[in-house]
This record gives sequence, structure tokens and C-alpha cells, in this order.
Amino acid sequence: MTYDVGNIFAKILRAEIPCKKVLEDDWGFAFHDIAPKAPLHVLMIPKGPYTDSQDFYQNATPDEITGFGRFVAKVIGALNVKEDGYRLLSNCGLNGGQEVPHYHIHLFAGKPLGPMLATSVTAA
Ligand code: 5GP
Repeated sequence: MTYDVGNIFAKILRAEIPCKKVLEDDWGFAFHDIAPKAPLHVLMIPKGPYTDSQDFYQNATPDEITGFGRFVAKVIGALNVKEDGYRLLSNCGLNGGQEVPHYHIHLFAGKPLGPMLATSVTAA
């Protein structure tokens, strides 16, 4: 999939549409999800134009990958969620339910988050 420079998160990065910003550094940008699924629901995106996790970890530079990983840790620290716990999640493609084609990690926190998925299947 080629990167769509018109996607919503690209517009947020260019400050063309507003968001509730949490943190930013050279490698990443974090902001509150517009439709939170938990008391705290933050999105963390790398600054580079990567569509999903596969694109990012395959094609980003080592500096981008390390920088974004450290950025995620900074956000977790800034939100002070380590002690009570949190969940990270990244959707990819149709089965993953990805809506916005700019790689992002969801951070959920603020209450016990329940089972990992809403439904389960019998293991093959
Ligand atoms: P995905 O399904 O791609 O993993 O998640 C996309 C997320 O982006 C959804 O949770 C959705 O609520 C959020 N989102 C979509 N549009 C906007 C927007 O304009 N602003 C913000 N802050 N979040 C958005």
C-alpha cells in the first residue's frame, strides 16, 4: 500500500486539523483518540510516512525505529500508567480493522481492560 499523504494522521502531524496533543519529540507524536474506548486512550504515531507496523519495521531507519520506541516509553512515563498498567495495540489491514493508514499504536489505560479481544475462537 502506498502512503496516502491525505490521511487524517498526516493532517494532524502537519497541524492542518486539531487534536488534543499529549507529547511530541523528533520521532513521534501522541494525542488523545477522538472516540476513546477506555478512560485514557492515546494514539502514538511515528513522524515518518509509514502505513502500518510491517511498513514501519521493515522500511524505517534504525534511528526512526529506536527513536519511536523510546518515544512510546516517554509517553508511558508522561501518562504515569506503568504502575496501574495499560495495553498497547496496533491494528493492521482488513482483519486487524485498521481505519487510518498511518502506522499508530493505541495506548489504553485507566481501568481494568478485560479480555484481550471482545470475542474468542477455539484454538486450531
Ligand atoms: P485504527 O482503527 O486505524 O487502529 O484506529 C484509528 C483511530 O483513530 C480510531 O480509534 C479513531 O477513533 C481515531 N481517529 C479517527 N479520526 C480521528 C481524528 O480526526 N482525531 C483523532 N484524535 N482521532 C481520530
